[in-house]
Amino acid sequence: MRVAWHPERDEFVKASDVEKEYGEKTADDEDTFEKPPARCRVCGRSLTLVRGRPKIVAHFRHPALLYCPTKEMARAPYLRLRPVDPDPEAGARLRRIVAERWLELYNELQLLVPYFSLQEFRTLLRRATTQRMWEYRGLQFEQVARTLVMLADYSPSTGDPGRKFWFRFWYDHGIRDIADLWIRPTDPPRLFRASFEPPAKIGGRPAYEDVIAIKDDWKQPEWVPPLRQSQIEETERWLVRFW
Ligand SMILES: [Zn+2]
Repeated sequence: MRVAWHPERDEFVKASDVEKEYGEKTADDEDTFEKPPARCRVCGRSLTLVRGRPKIVAHFRHPALLYCPTKEMARAPYLRLRPVDPDPEAGARLRRIVAERWLELYNELQLLVPYFSLQEFRTLLRRATTQRMWEYRGLQFEQVARTLVMLADYSPSTGDPGRKFWFRFWYDHGIRDIADLWIRPTDPPRLFRASFEPPAKIGGRPAYEDVIAIKDDWKQPEWVPPLRQSQIEETERWLVRFW
């Protein structure tokens, strides 16, 4: 990732700035790591600085054996949401609720994904249908937004105008089963959102070292723009055709 807590100060800093500040003075022999270590915003443990080189941007990296949820994110961006033990009746019921309350769902997704677009909303609904996510046993409307959001990456090209970064969501606990969202209500998995510098190459995907921010505090909702009446009507028509 490109940002972390500063090695010595209580400050969130970029790898390139730490590189400038420490320069060569603490480099170990024969490698490109430097000390003192920065600290990871997600797990709080040490990160070493990997210096920028002609084709590599300066970034922070955990030691190889250390477990951190951000490594999960880099390895597997999405949960498997196809139910093993589907409940088709509950799925049909949930789809009816989604058709009625889609604006609520859309607003909730807007709070999670900056510059969330109607195009992305449709993509998520299509994917959830292909993967039969609706038939997940026990899935309630209240959990749908935080489940749906896992089904895609959000790039500047698919979002509403103004989106600069590429977003990806993941959960901690190394969870692979979305049922953990409602089975463990006292210890709910934390939802993370990484902002990546978008890849320069067309068709490219951002890598772990391109992370520039990680959000895990959802208490303060951001303001989101309301949909226009014409967009609402168009989406209603789409839902009737698609559903
Ligand atoms: Zn970490």
